[in-house]
Amino acid sequence: MKITIVGAGAMGSLFGGLLAEAGNKVLLLDIWKEHVDAINSKGLWIEGLSGDRFIKIKAINNPADIKVSSDLFIIFVKSYHTESVAKNISSLVGEKSTILTLQNGLGNFEILCHILGSEKVIAGTTSYGATILGPGEVRHAGVGPTAIGELDGKGTHRVEKFSQLLNQAGIKTETTKNVIGLIWSKLLVNVGINALGVLLRVKNGALILREYAPKLQAALVEEAMKVAQGKEIALIHQDMVKEVAHICEKTRDNLNSMLQDVRKKRKTEIDFINGAIVREGEKLNIPTPVNRVMTDLIKALEESYEKQI
Ligand code: NAD
Repeated sequence: MKITIVGAGAMGSLFGGLLAEAGNKVLLLDIWKEHVDAINSKGLWIEGLSGDRFIKIKAINNPADIKVSSDLFIIFVKSYHTESVAKNISSLVGEKSTILTLQNGLGNFEILCHILGSEKVIAGTTSYGATILGPGEVRHAGVGPTAIGELDGKGTHRVEKFSQLLNQAGIKTETTKNVIGLIWSKLLVNVGINALGVLLRVKNGALILREYAPKLQAALVEEAMKVAQGKEIALIHQDMVKEVAHICEKTRDNLNSMLQDVRKKRKTEIDFINGAIVREGEKLNIPTPVNRVMTDLIKALEESYEKQI
């Protein structure tokens, strides 16, 4: 199987490396030159949960250097880059290519469908975790379920085929007929954890201690649940407030990804997480004041990185 990973940072490198080890022809596409050069000269270093080793794999900077299309493109850029990469790869996507997004947040599959054609796009969620250590080096930091499915909920041969492909690479994957519900359920987890964890500068476990943090978390998730209900999304858990608190307990020592971004003074995915709840709420006339303030606070924080004392 020919696979192109679009955005070979932490997650893209991990998935690309595992798929290459399983015998697939994998190409990593990333604009980060030092990373691409390191991978091409030394190999991709993966350490952590799946073992410590170099993997031989090809990486490139420029999509124009791709001469042959791929069976599968896996999109692993941050959500705010999805639109530009979709445009960059549009001429490379062949008749029979499939695009898979496993990114966090809301809006990615919509952008991909709009630019590349909805018949080409499948989506999913993954509980795998990874961190970039430096150019050419990634830590495999988390394992957990991955699920993929067609956006219209139909069971198809291609979803079975790509699920098998991921399983053969050791990435435990199921197919789902409710991928939208899964994406929204993961979104609600990020809605309740990420921005709040940033503002309090705490690991996940501290969000469910004491009084005010759990109260704020519940308010964020309840608003998002109302929006999900308004859109008739079938969430995976009835009580998402309880589920998010449970996940905080299970991942109590984790620094959420938005907090990791803010610590490096990087742009966050806030517009695709709490910001997406605000946008969707507006369309349905459902008020989301807590998510709005949270979104604005994170955007104000991003704006003031250089002024922080
Ligand atoms: P990352 O920042 O490590 O990787 C993104 C990569 O995309 C970077 O290497 C960047 O150089 C590259 N990129 C940016 N613009 C590009 C372009 N135009 N063309 C090609 N490459 C480009 O991010 P990540 O942590 O791997 O996260 C990717 C997505 O997966 C996000 O949506 C994130 O929320 C989600 N996710 C991450 C984890 C995790 O543990 N890291 C877990 C689950 C889901």
